[in-house]
Amino acid sequence: MDALIRQHLDAPRPLHLQEEFSQHTLGQLILTLENLAAEERRAFRVVHGWRTGLFPDLPLLPVNRHLPLSAYQDLGSHLEEDSPTLLYLFDNGSECFSLLGQLVDRPEISVFQQRLPVRTLWSFSRELQETLLHELERHVPFRPIPLPERAEPSGLDARFHGHLIKYLEESLLETRQSLNLITGILRVQKTISRELDFERLLELIGDTLLETFRFQLGELELWVPEESRLVHQVTWNMNGPGQTLSQHLQILLDVEREISLFQAGAPVVMDALRRHPLVLNHRLVEILGLRFAILLPLFAGEEKVGLLKLYYGHPEVISPMRLAWLEELSSLMASAILNAREHTRVFELATKDGLTSLHNRRYFEEQFNLELARTRRTGAPLSLLMLDVDNFKTYNDRNGHVAGDHVLVQVARLVKQGIRSVDLIARYGGEEFIVLLTGGDLGVGRSVAEKIRAAVADFDFPHGEGQPGGRLTVSIGVAELKPSIRSLEDLIRRSDAALYQAKEQGRNRVVAAG
Ligand code: GH3
Ligand code: MG
Ligand code: MG
Repeated sequence: MDALIRQHLDAPRPLHLQEEFSQHTLGQLILTLENLAAEERRAFRVVHGWRTGLFPDLPLLPVNRHLPLSAYQDLGSHLEEDSPTLLYLFDNGSECFSLLGQLVDRPEISVFQQRLPVRTLWSFSRELQETLLHELERHVPFRPIPLPERAEPSGLDARFHGHLIKYLEESLLETRQSLNLITGILRVQKTISRELDFERLLELIGDTLLETFRFQLGELELWVPEESRLVHQVTWNMNGPGQTLSQHLQILLDVEREISLFQAGAPVVMDALRRHPLVLNHRLVEILGLRFAILLPLFAGEEKVGLLKLYYGHPEVISPMRLAWLEELSSLMASAILNAREHTRVFELATKDGLTSLHNRRYFEEQFNLELARTRRTGAPLSLLMLDVDNFKTYNDRNGHVAGDHVLVQVARLVKQGIRSVDLIARYGGEEFIVLLTGGDLGVGRSVAEKIRAAVADFDFPHGEGQPGGRLTVSIGVAELKPSIRSLEDLIRRSDAALYQAKEQGRNRVVAAG
């Protein structure tokens, strides 16, 4: 810190006169404040206390805010909750311990103590005390105090005013930021806790965090307990998703140290990123222009969920209050992520077929209704394929159920390869598959079906030669959505009828409903 203060602390010079006293202390105070402001990026309030046990009437000298006389006895209650404060104490040391004791649980308050030489204080008479008090009160609005060896009065005055104005501006900014923060957090709480779709939840978290905490780059990693690993999940970029450099964020930090930080569970502010020992790739930090970062472990109760990393490129004020809020949010985000992940898993279990991993019939029906509504609006065509494995009973009887299962998995694969990702496919029953071709009319349906039929017939299934006709085949019925068709049942009935015809006509063929 300030060399002057240090020097003073190491070898206190006796201060005798009221004039000298105020010149020195106030002059040093200004210097210290300036140095602190330059050294620390943080905005802080400065409160200046000055008292000794020997002079109980001596008031606190507020530098840029006024504290009542009683403040010294119960200082903690006079300092605002949650606002970063630098407490500058001039003290003979004897009372400082009890004072510091009051403040141990208040990390937002940094205390800087300057001990006055006890010897000097003893020499203050009651009369001098009063004069001093008077002097101090006169100096509260900070009229210039000449510092003989250093600054001009006007310069000093200007510096004081500069501090005051800066302080007021910062207070205003802080208040505004606090308001934004509160609204942001309320919104996060409302939206995040409700979102059950995992992908959408991550998007939402990114958007809200960006808006509220204004970082430049953000990354979320999720904890995989089986592998004791953090796995990259998503990157958020203040400058939009076009910025490709952000993907390199994953290799920015030393993984092992990152994991131990994560497991400790407490948020960490990484300052001076360019020189930080946790950073592996200092060059990248420079290219990305990153200055500092916040690592925020996400825990839902005891359960480890993930690690949130927010990187900043600009000198942002990360007040203890903001950190505390981020920490508060972290458990909220963690449980939302857990919920959504569990929901997605259960949803998949409920909507997917265990053997082929295709969707099941129930899911198909739900999605079909959505598709139907959309088609009605746009007037786009829609066709349905109903596919059934030929003589599958024979295959099972000859080769066993397990071999039959393998055939179903392979057929599912071939059908999937024959359609586009926007088309809807499901395992409809035992050896029956259903496909909805969006935007395809009967002609398209027929040709897609024909392609699938040929792919299955050409595939070399084990023991396929034992099937009637010497290979394993499928039959497919196709139907098109018409204005007269009102429901999925109607459409299925028509494609089923076409499938029946295909079977009748000798199997391994496609029939379109006329
Ligand atoms: P067709 O050409 O007329 O369709 O004759 P098919 O033998 O395929 O028709 P059928 O409906 O008589 O037999 C269907 C068989 O499919 C009977 C059933 O054991 C089998 N099957 C249904 N689900 C599964 C499954 O999950 N695994 C296996 N291995 N076989 C299944
Ligand atoms: Mg069947
Ligand atoms: Mg069959």
